Amino acid sequence: MHDGLPEPEYQRLAKQIHRAIWDDLDPLEQRIEDEERIPYDIVLPVLRDAGAFGLLVPREYGGKGLSIRQYLPLLAEFAKIQGGIRVIVHVHNSFAHALSEIGNDAQKAAILPGAVTGEKSVAFALTEPDHGTGADLGTTAARDDGGYVLNGRKWLITNSDLASHFLVFAKTGTGEVSALLVERDSPGFTIEPLPETMGCKGGEHGVLTFENVRVPASALVGSEGEGQEHLERALEISRVFIAASSLGTSERALELSLAHARSRVTFGKPIGQRQAVQRYLAEMGTDIYALRGMLADAARKWDEGRRIPAESAMVKQFGLEAVGRVTDRALLVHGGIGYTRRHPVERLYRDARLNWLEEGPPTVQYLVAARELLSGYSFTGEATG
Ligand SMILES: Cc1cc2nc3c(=O)[nH]c(=O)nc-3n(C[C@H](O)[C@H](O)[C@H](O)COP(=O)(O)OP(=O)(O)OC[C@H]3O[C@@H](n4cnc5c(N)ncnc54)[C@H](O)[C@@H]3O)c2cc1C
Repeated sequence: MHDGLPEPEYQRLAKQIHRAIWDDLDPLEQRIEDEERIPYDIVLPVLRDAGAFGLLVPREYGGKGLSIRQYLPLLAEFAKIQGGIRVIVHVHNSFAHALSEIGNDAQKAAILPGAVTGEKSVAFALTEPDHGTGADLGTTAARDDGGYVLNGRKWLITNSDLASHFLVFAKTGTGEVSALLVERDSPGFTIEPLPETMGCKGGEHGVLTFENVRVPASALVGSEGEGQEHLERALEISRVFIAASSLGTSERALELSLAHARSRVTFGKPIGQRQAVQRYLAEMGTDIYALRGMLADAARKWDEGRRIPAESAMVKQFGLEAVGRVTDRALLVHGGIGYTRRHPVERLYRDARLNWLEEGPPTVQYLVAARELLSGYSFTGEATG
């Protein structure tokens, strides 16, 4: 059982994070949305000083070593403010956490202490412009002179402007998938930005090109051919993180909608007294309640050391559908003014759309959940087949 940080220390940390979110980061929303650029000179020191970079780094490497139960509400809080900031925090923590689980001692010692301060960071490099993910990858790592030579292209790789290392998935040997930690300044490795995104604005999701990039054998994570397994483990918990992001965005959308329903008066009454509007609010609350329950179940099981492939795919899928419904209803409650940038609901609506894509689109979640169900998954989390 992973208990995480002792409760009083956790409460202190949570207060510190909330203060950073609402006092220092939320006021930057307009600026980031206008400039479509995150002012790293302000945001990164705030995140570092609040402890946001080390949330999932084990304590032996200087991090906070939070349990998943403790981490989810903090990530959800980040999902209430400008989405580009949430994405930085999510990707940094998610892949520091993945490295702490799948990296060897030397890899962890080289990266994790620096990850606590944000000085080092691992980006996740899976998606490709010319191929599908997993077994279809086109990037290759051919054995050469005791190491590997990497060739191929990746794109949509978040934090590509910040990362010191890239966890690159490539085909090795006879075509099996392997994972390699590639340093940013490796000769032959170039990074170009993509156009700005619909929501979660300001971060960079770059195109990575590997042209005969030499990577030492020590960069291999685990053994050759273990890449698919690492991928599944990393994505399993990271999908829960996306669902927590859906929860935070939904909570903020409801909070704004309740305030608007109380204050907007038409035909002599606040709109919150109209049964039709009450239905929107009730449905938003129901989605949030259900998502909270699913997240609590997934977090408990993971902290108990159990695998949760079905739960993580289902909560990720339910979360994106829930935040889709909730942000849609938030716009309806706000009426025409909600379509303008006067209130953050239009931003929440755009930010939420990324949750469809992060850690795999819906068709992948259906595939994983159905595969588990067909092989005998039971809702206690134990396979019966
Ligand atoms: C802002 C942003 C940040 C991102 N960050 C990262 C990152 O840090 N690292 C990273 O590796 N990726 C990242 N991604 C990529 C993201 O994970 C993918 O976009 C997503 O998984 C979908 O893959 P794709 O874009 O290749 O879509 P495609 O595979 O081209 O899919 C297009 C459509 O076809 C469907 N489809 C494709 N293949 C199949 C199939 N075999 N069976 C059924 N349906 C199928 C998909 O569900 C989808 O509806 C990011 C994306 C965005 C937008």
